[in-house]
Amino acid sequence: MAFSSLGLSPALLAAVNARAFALPSPIQTLAIPAALLGRDVIACAQTGSGKTIAYVLPVLQQLVLSAPAQPRRLRALILVPTRELAAQVGEEVRGFAVQLELCPKVVTVFGGVSINVQMMELRGGADIVVATPGRLLDLVDHNALSLSEVTTLVLDEADRLIDLGFAEELGRVLALLPSQRQHLLFSATFPPSVQALAARLLRDPVRIDVVPPPEALPDIEQRAIAVDPDRRTQLLCRLIQENPWSRVLVFVATKHASEKVAGKLRKARIDAEPFHGELSQGKRTQVLADFKASRLKVVLATDVAARGLDIAELSAVVNYDLPRSPVDYTHRIGRTGRAGLSGVAISFVTPEGASHFRLIEKRQHRRVPLELVAGFEPVVPPEHWARRADDPEDGPRTGGVKGRRMSKKDKLRLAAGQATSPPGGDL
Ligand code: AMP
Repeated sequence: MAFSSLGLSPALLAAVNARAFALPSPIQTLAIPAALLGRDVIACAQTGSGKTIAYVLPVLQQLVLSAPAQPRRLRALILVPTRELAAQVGEEVRGFAVQLELCPKVVTVFGGVSINVQMMELRGGADIVVATPGRLLDLVDHNALSLSEVTTLVLDEADRLIDLGFAEELGRVLALLPSQRQHLLFSATFPPSVQALAARLLRDPVRIDVVPPPEALPDIEQRAIAVDPDRRTQLLCRLIQENPWSRVLVFVATKHASEKVAGKLRKARIDAEPFHGELSQGKRTQVLADFKASRLKVVLATDVAARGLDIAELSAVVNYDLPRSPVDYTHRIGRTGRAGLSGVAISFVTPEGASHFRLIEKRQHRRVPLELVAGFEPVVPPEHWARRADDPEDGPRTGGVKGRRMSKKDKLRLAAGQATSPPGGDL
């Protein structure tokens, strides 16, 4: 099906054609016509599937077709969980809006930067606001905007909105909206918390669950390398130096690890910067801009970068620390292999993390063979790694003898190897 069959107005169709997309993606084919009819939509789509445009186009079309509001009144509210995603979505909406004759006013608001600038931008009103929930509520408290005439509410990455502790703020936002409104709820994953929210909010929604055919799945080669915790930085340097990667996103568990490993890479003359929630927003924006513009090769990030970010031609994602959940694993590796390009996702698996990695494999229904890299073999070979009582599978990982216990010497080696492991933890 072509974009021209989706019911888009000629002006929006021209704006889409300017992007030279060959065809709408499956989520766009299903969501756009339903949203244009004014229906509530709940859509589950893989990250990188084109879901932003699937809601941006209907939102714009409804504004363009309805009577122009003078002064401007906020009619479409797009809520997202992170500042970077807000900036990215805001750009996407603005990119289409400027091509329309009436040019709806789009304002992006998020925390970590001066509220005054955003209040100035909101003077004279806005037609569309893209926001993170906390800053949106601050602006409402400052009487900088009113939500009382919003007709469409979009929740992007809804599971993350709830995960990141925005549930209470979301409740406050919902209470400020008129009861008659359309909901467009998008996410790559739908845990029970989101299903409960959907059941409470949506009226007779169109449910869209795009299961991509195998050939349409992102082309991500998944690899796992067995390594002792204290050898990971050296292994990372080796991989970065040996592979023809243009850009590498490395996930670590803590802000501290993000700073420390970035510092060590810089000492090894690798261009690397940390990216985490305690950096100033100016620094975060700068790091991301440098990364996207190829002025920076490696970013050491906490999970604050795991969701929604669209970095073109990201060759590799490395899980220096494993993510806390299989869902986070999906989001992290989804930063590569986007827009039809291939990518590689490499996880460092330490003796302590082996059971957790098996759980990730199990949830993905995919086995990722554990590799050894010459010169980085763990002191205790993987077939001797201890198994936890809650390990999801029965057999040993790599050909060891089932039930074989570690020798005292193996345990001592393992303890020595783990002593330098950084603590797990915060975003
Ligand atoms: P998203 O899932 O919204 O983060 O989009 C992922 C990427 O796919 C973005 O770079 C979009 O510009 C791109 N994209 C969106 N729709 C299409 C389409 N119909 N064909 C090709 N690429 C698209």
